[in-house]
Amino acid sequence: MKVLIIDIDSKIPNLALKKIEKYHADRGDEVIWNFPLMKNQVDKIYVSSIFNWNKHLTSEWEGLAEIGGSGWNLQKTLPKEIDDVKPIINMGFTMRGCTRKCHFCIVPEKEGKSYVVGDIYDLWDGKSKTLVLFDNNILTLPDHFKLICSQIKKEGIKVDFNQGLDIRLMTKETAELLKTIKHEEYRFAFDDLSLVKSVEKGIKILKDAKINRAFWYVYCDENFESALERLLILKRLGQRTYLMRDRRVRGIKKYNMLANWSNCLGAMAKMDFFEYIHYYKNRNYFKNED
Ligand code: SF4
Repeated sequence: MKVLIIDIDSKIPNLALKKIEKYHADRGDEVIWNFPLMKNQVDKIYVSSIFNWNKHLTSEWEGLAEIGGSGWNLQKTLPKEIDDVKPIINMGFTMRGCTRKCHFCIVPEKEGKSYVVGDIYDLWDGKSKTLVLFDNNILTLPDHFKLICSQIKKEGIKVDFNQGLDIRLMTKETAELLKTIKHEEYRFAFDDLSLVKSVEKGIKILKDAKINRAFWYVYCDENFESALERLLILKRLGQRTYLMRDRRVRGIKKYNMLANWSNCLGAMAKMDFFEYIHYYKNRNYFKNED
């Protein structure tokens, strides 16, 4: 049997498609990736779209393929026999869902509340020195978090909690635990000014555990001032930032400039945002905007 897999827009490895690939490969099927011209020469086609603004790109596959992904339909799931497949690719999820409800996030709607789906041995090949976990909010499952940390420590691998840890759930015990394992980065998110007290408290706990600088995702929608204020708070606290621009503001100059400044550790450390603009001789940067 020949199987065609079309990954329309994944920015990171698409785990659903990896499961499909392994499911068919284990059955001896030939799996072909991203080769639309083969569509009339295969027995089965799978198409995935992650972002809803790409939904139109799936239309040519309707009726021909099994279509899925968050950008297509949040309710569509893999058949159980495929979902149960565990590709060993040194990245993936040990938990799904989230108990929070951030307004810009589809996880709670798609996956429901936090629950465990596995551990590092479902993902790690036993050789890789690194493991990337896409767990949405592992600190909502404290016992599971402890288990994962103990496995990572035992194997001596470097972990990347790639989606960030929830600073609201930071405790002295958690910080000490984080300190015992190797990290790619300590990642957190500061998505709303209402979290400022939690962020300041969390950073104090981290610093007490000698984790002086972490990497912070800063969500940015049309509220430019809120994003700038959050960035300045993190700058004052000596943190590293990454501006996550909502699609609605991508391409708008002042947001691009804010991202250029905040995503560059050197620029942010050396100057504030308006000095940065001045540095690029863009004093009138905001003219004709807003
Ligand atoms: S904490 Fe993270 S995973 Fe949970 S709803 Fe908010 S953004 Fe989504």
